[in-house]
Amino acid sequence: MKDRYTKCTFGNSGKCADMSDKKITFDDCRKMIQMYSPCMDDYPYIMDLKQDEYYISEKAVERFNVPSAFFTNAVKTHEQFVHKDDIQLLTQELEDMIEGKKNEHNITYRWLDHDKHTVWINCRGTLIKDEDGSPQFMIGCVNEVGMAAKADNNSGLLQSSEMKALFETAEIRDKIGFVLRVGIDGFKDINEKFGTKYGDFILKGVANCIVESLGENQSVYHAVGDEYLIVDCNGSSVEEGHELYRNIRRAIDFFIENNDYEAVYTISGGILSCKHYETMSYEEIVKLSTFALQQAKYRGKNQLYIFSYEDYEKFLRKRYILTCVRKSVSEDFRGFETYFQPLMTAGDEHGKLYGAECLLRYETEKGERISPIDFIPILEESGLIIPVGRFVLEQAAQMCKKMQTVYPDFKVSINLSYVQILKSAILKDIFNILAKYGLKPESFVVEITESGYLENTPLVRRVWDSLKKIGILIALDDFGTGYSNLSSISNFSPDYVKLDRGFTVKALKNSYENTLMKHIIDLAHSVKLKIVIEGVETVEELDRLSVMEPDYVQGYYYSKPCSSDEFWDRYGVA
Ligand code: C2E
Ligand code: CA
Ligand code: CA
Repeated sequence: MKDRYTKCTFGNSGKCADMSDKKITFDDCRKMIQMYSPCMDDYPYIMDLKQDEYYISEKAVERFNVPSAFFTNAVKTHEQFVHKDDIQLLTQELEDMIEGKKNEHNITYRWLDHDKHTVWINCRGTLIKDEDGSPQFMIGCVNEVGMAAKADNNSGLLQSSEMKALFETAEIRDKIGFVLRVGIDGFKDINEKFGTKYGDFILKGVANCIVESLGENQSVYHAVGDEYLIVDCNGSSVEEGHELYRNIRRAIDFFIENNDYEAVYTISGGILSCKHYETMSYEEIVKLSTFALQQAKYRGKNQLYIFSYEDYEKFLRKRYILTCVRKSVSEDFRGFETYFQPLMTAGDEHGKLYGAECLLRYETEKGERISPIDFIPILEESGLIIPVGRFVLEQAAQMCKKMQTVYPDFKVSINLSYVQILKSAILKDIFNILAKYGLKPESFVVEITESGYLENTPLVRRVWDSLKKIGILIALDDFGTGYSNLSSISNFSPDYVKLDRGFTVKALKNSYENTLMKHIIDLAHSVKLKIVIEGVETVEELDRLSVMEPDYVQGYYYSKPCSSDEFWDRYGVA
């Protein structure tokens, strides 16, 4: 670099420009840039249009693919760090300046960083003419368009990136007690209902309420949108943070009241004790505070959630499973498999194969088996249960077809999720699969749990009635657990009721549940409903439950759910 300067003869006669009597030289400007650029985030530059020489602050060399602070042959050299699609624009602009067609330069275009990634910049410049009035220099500044602002002018708060310094200064870090992230509930609705200008007013109001509520050595920063980060540097406890949250809520309630309840809203908060996580970096703390606020909102809003590592690990686990299953679905259901568990007859002709329940299994790429209790809710929440449900349907139909070569009346049971009923064309899917395999509708039993059907909406009703009309059989699953009640039998008029193992275990232990179970079975039989007892594990259980006269039995006593090959090997011979 130095060599190149010494080769240049800046500041010689002829390189002067006239600025109200003062002569400035290229070299003066270069020195100025060197002096003040360390104090700024932008990149000042000077270009000598006559000598075709260019100088830009050293920081630009660090940030962009600029070969050196000083270079000649400006247009050609720019090609190294300007996006290829913008070179024409830049060349034209420079030509216009050199020809004196323009006195000001102000364009937004793309530069490239060292990894050749695009960075949008705005370049401004002013033309300085020499004594003869011909263009001599262009002096100006480049700034990054997308660079994050350090403050939020609406709320009047510094951005949370400015909080970082607190975490990086050892004496202050030691005193940080908690970080509290506060967010406005349903802020999007406020913006939509009242417009963004009013939304800005609320944001400013909430920021003021927070500032008012802060104690000494507590500061607030603007995080994103309607979220604020408060950091306590008194070593305060989470309980004290909770008190602060309550104070902020009171201040906001007062603010709402003062505005005649025009917009009524609440706030949620997520708090994290920094004393417990003192080795964590600023970035990690901010990440965990985001999780904490999400949890407060997820748990119903208008509340404070205190960060728990256990919850966070569960969240990470869920996210991991979601990533795995999503990949599997996109790779033709790799890792998913359907198992089958036999349903056997009870009563006089007990122990005969009646059908099988199709149960989904999943194994990750790394060979970890995940329980359906864990992955089914994730499939449901993400909507992936829709494609996976089709996969299950296909596998179940295949097995049913094969088994009917030996047992013509064999039935296969499929568990159906609420999401499949509400958000997919489940009727069409079932109909198509029956046609594809040439199966009779009564070969399929659809199992549903009442828990998911509490909302007996017209759509659910329609799907229900259509399933029954086609002739598909319906089983009310998990009967006897928390959610089920007798009204669901009349609501859904199923063909089977499956009594949950939890209920049967109680019935075997307590006389009250025993009598209740007996009556439920009698009641079901009186309306021609068939009863399946689930989860029968031992011969003793089977004997004691047989007295109740169930129609079918399912459980480990007969068989654990097994792979389709195993099921075929065991039951494929009549
Ligand atoms: P579920 O429908 O109640 O299925 C019966 C569960 O009880 C199965 O657990 C089965 O392995 C287990 N089980 C069977 N016999 C016994 C026994 O004698 N003792 C005990 N302790 N347990 C027994 P699994 O396979 O882990 O499935 C759990 C739940 O996952 C199912 O409960 C069902 O709600 C759901 N699920 C499984 N596959 C699917 C599917 O393809 N679609 C949907 N939507 N849900 C599914
Ligand atoms: Ca089931
Ligand atoms: Ca069940």
